Amino acid sequence: MTAEWTTERLLESDRRHVIRSWSVQGIRAKVAVAGGEGSWFWDTEGNRYLDFQSQLVNLNLGHQHPRMIQAISRQAEQLSYIGPSFAERSRTELAEMIADVAPGDLSMSFFTTGGAEANESAIRLARHMTGRQKIVARYRSYHGATAGALSATGDPRHNAGEPGVPGVVRMFDPYTYRTPSGQPPESCPVCLGAPHFEEILGYEDPSTVAAVILEPITGTNGILVPPDGYLRSIRETCDKYGIMLIADEVMSGYGRTGEWFAVDHWDVVPDILTSAKGLNSGYVPLGAMTVGDRARDWLNRNKLWAGQTYAGHPLACASAVESLKIIEEERILDNVREQGARLDAGLRLLAERYPMIGDVRGRGLFYGVEFVRDRETREPLVPFNGPAGPMSRMVEDAWQRGLYLSSNNNILRLTPPLVVQPEEIDIALGVLDEVIGLAQARFDD
Ligand code: PLP
Repeated sequence: MTAEWTTERLLESDRRHVIRSWSVQGIRAKVAVAGGEGSWFWDTEGNRYLDFQSQLVNLNLGHQHPRMIQAISRQAEQLSYIGPSFAERSRTELAEMIADVAPGDLSMSFFTTGGAEANESAIRLARHMTGRQKIVARYRSYHGATAGALSATGDPRHNAGEPGVPGVVRMFDPYTYRTPSGQPPESCPVCLGAPHFEEILGYEDPSTVAAVILEPITGTNGILVPPDGYLRSIRETCDKYGIMLIADEVMSGYGRTGEWFAVDHWDVVPDILTSAKGLNSGYVPLGAMTVGDRARDWLNRNKLWAGQTYAGHPLACASAVESLKIIEEERILDNVREQGARLDAGLRLLAERYPMIGDVRGRGLFYGVEFVRDRETREPLVPFNGPAGPMSRMVEDAWQRGLYLSSNNNILRLTPPLVVQPEEIDIALGVLDEVIGLAQARFDD
């Protein structure tokens, strides 16, 4: 136990003793990370990487923001833990601050340790409140890895072989580049919202549906931005039948898209908004379920059947309070819009040069680049849920050049920290130019 922690020992011990998520085990980690600052992190050998993923799209304020570290240590010195039943300053202040920035009447928060538990709580609350069982969720979605959240998840991870939590009904996604109906988005029933949703409700009986859960801008599954009018249309249909709207803003919330929340782009107010990740940039595990008047009234009369030992952990709440202050005081939303515009412009120039790029889309610093075999037919460069060959190669080529990014099926995701600087956007665009150029040359051969 006293041997020196060389890189070799660390990597080998990690391989033997640490179980890594969503992976076959027994494979060594790429590198051992030694530190980070802002948009960069570095390994024990001194290699530096530009973090264009913000880790799991959560490290929005970048690595080691000094104010975050000070806020956590201040809170640790004052009170590291207190149970959820007590009022405590960091928790109360955070809930009040969320009420200030959240849309509409959303004003009361239940804290969890991450996004999955926030969604789990939202699903259960909607069921308890409405007395209905069914949850409508979309295919291209990720809502978390706990039983209920994973059952609501539509991406292939929900098919790992468990029965899941019953009652989930699927809806298609407003994927404007690849509409489910094959019609242009303007006339596609799915992209319009209500026509497709109503059809499903017709089969399911709306009086059995408790809630619809959706990512207002889909993250993991391809950065899908719905057309204007879509969310409002879903909202109105929910209102018509007393169905609750749960906006999963775990990835898109707290500035990622250039507004506080993705729903703000369309002025839509959900009944329940779930968040985590950008709420405190992941410095301490935290999630939140924030509810409006409808749930508040119900919760004031009925018991909430949910709770965790670490719900509203003071260290997490104190870091989130500081995070929200930083977002305001350091004008983070302005930076997201400015750097987002720079990234968008650079990606569109790349799209002019490389025919493999079928679509560039996103809002703020939440971008996806979709790769195709043929721009006319839009045939994906790699099959859905199949071997990722050329996509993985691009991600690896970028890594070799010090750019950390990720892909999902035929889509590259570009989600740098919200504090990213213009010169860092340019570095990333330079690397992308190189690696997409290589991929295009291999494809053309
Ligand atoms: N919801 C969305 C939209 C997410 O992107 C994620 C995680 O990536 C989750 C929920 C789950 O959050 P967590 O991993 O904190 O449980």
